[in-house]
Amino acid sequence: MLTVLSYSLPAQYRCASRQAPASPPPSSAVAGRQNLITIPLVVHIVWHSPEENISDAQVQSQVEVLNEDFRALNNGLSSVPGVFADEVADMEIEFCLVAITRTQTTFTGIANLYSGGMRRVCHTGLGGHDALAPEHYLNAWVSARNDSACGEGTFPGDPDVPAGEQGIFIRPDCFGTTGTAAPPFNLGRTATHEAGHYLNLKHPWGEGLEDPLCQTDDMVEDTPEQAYSYSEYTGQDCPAHPFFSCGSADMFMNFMNLPADRCMAMFTQGQKARARAAIATLRPGLLQASCVPVAQREREPKEEQPVLLTNPARTEISLLFPEKDRYEIAIFDTAGRLVFISHHASGAPFRTSTDSFINGIYYIKIRNGRKIHIKKLIIAR
Ligand SMILES: [Zn+2]
Repeated sequence: MLTVLSYSLPAQYRCASRQAPASPPPSSAVAGRQNLITIPLVVHIVWHSPEENISDAQVQSQVEVLNEDFRALNNGLSSVPGVFADEVADMEIEFCLVAITRTQTTFTGIANLYSGGMRRVCHTGLGGHDALAPEHYLNAWVSARNDSACGEGTFPGDPDVPAGEQGIFIRPDCFGTTGTAAPPFNLGRTATHEAGHYLNLKHPWGEGLEDPLCQTDDMVEDTPEQAYSYSEYTGQDCPAHPFFSCGSADMFMNFMNLPADRCMAMFTQGQKARARAAIATLRPGLLQASCVPVAQREREPKEEQPVLLTNPARTEISLLFPEKDRYEIAIFDTAGRLVFISHHASGAPFRTSTDSFINGIYYIKIRNGRKIHIKKLIIAR
C-alpha cells in the first residue's frame, strides 16, 4: 500500500519502501539476548547499461559499511549529540557475503517493474534473477529503477510480498562507497536503511513520507516522535542539532531517516530490540543460515532462438529470427534426405508454401554462421 501525498518529493529520494504491516511486539526475552547474529547476504546485480554491472569491489565496500553501521563502528558516531549518546546501539548484527550473481537484462529500470503482479527483478524468467534461499539469506538486488528512489526494503511478515521477492533493492549508484557510487548517497547508507526495513524498522516519523501532524510513530520508544524525513538534506548541509518537531529534539541522524549518507550515524537500543525480535519471530530462517559461500553463478545470456510460428504447418512454413542476419534454412525428411534449402537475410519472417511437401514429420536445420538450430516440423495440410 503506497501513501499518496499532497506535496511533492525531492528530485531524488532514498526510499520507496512500503508501509510496515502490523507485527507482534518485540519479545523481551529475545531483545535481551546479546549474541551476535550473522546474516548471509546475496547480491544480485541485474544490469542493463554496462555501468550498472558494478564491480565486486563495490559490493565488498557495501558489506563493510553494513558491518560498521550495524556494529556501531561507523564514522560519524562522534557527531551524535550527547543527549542521544545513551541510545546508540551496537545492533550485534553482521553480514557475510555468500554470493554475487550477475544478470544482463533487456529491461531498463527493472527494479520496480512488475509483470502480472510479479516483480521482474526477482525472477530469472522475467528478466531478473531468482532469490537464493530467501528464508535464510538476505537477498539484495542492485539494479536501476524507473523512479528517482535510491532503494526499497520489504518488511517481514508483509502478506503482499512473496518470499521470493523479500529483500532490499538498491540502485547501483547508491550502493557501496566505491566505483559508481555517487554523492550524496555514496557512503552505503541506503542499504543500511533498507536492511533496517527488512528487519522491521520503520521510519522515525511513522507512516507515510512525512508526518507533519505528529500522528504516527515508529513503534520504538527511544526514537523521539518527529514530523520530518530530512530528505531535503541532500546538499552540503546536514541538519543542525537541536531541530525540534513534535515537541522534542529530533534524532535526525538515525539511519532510518532520509538525509544524505554522511548525515546519518546511529540505530537506537529500541530499534535493536525491535529488529532482533523480528529476526526471531518473523525471519527465523536467518538464524539457521550459514556463511559458506554459494558457488558463484554467472548467468549466461540466454541464446535467442529462431521461432517456428505455426507447427503443425498447414499452408505455409514460417520462421521468425532473433536478429537480422543471414540464415541457411534446410529441411530434411525423416530419412535424412534434403528436401528444401533456402537462404534468408531480410530480418522479416521467412515464409514458404507447403505445396511441395507431403504430410509428415520433417527437421528444419537453421544455420547462422557457426550456430545451428534444429527444429522438428510437422506438415499436416
Ligand atoms: Zn525507508
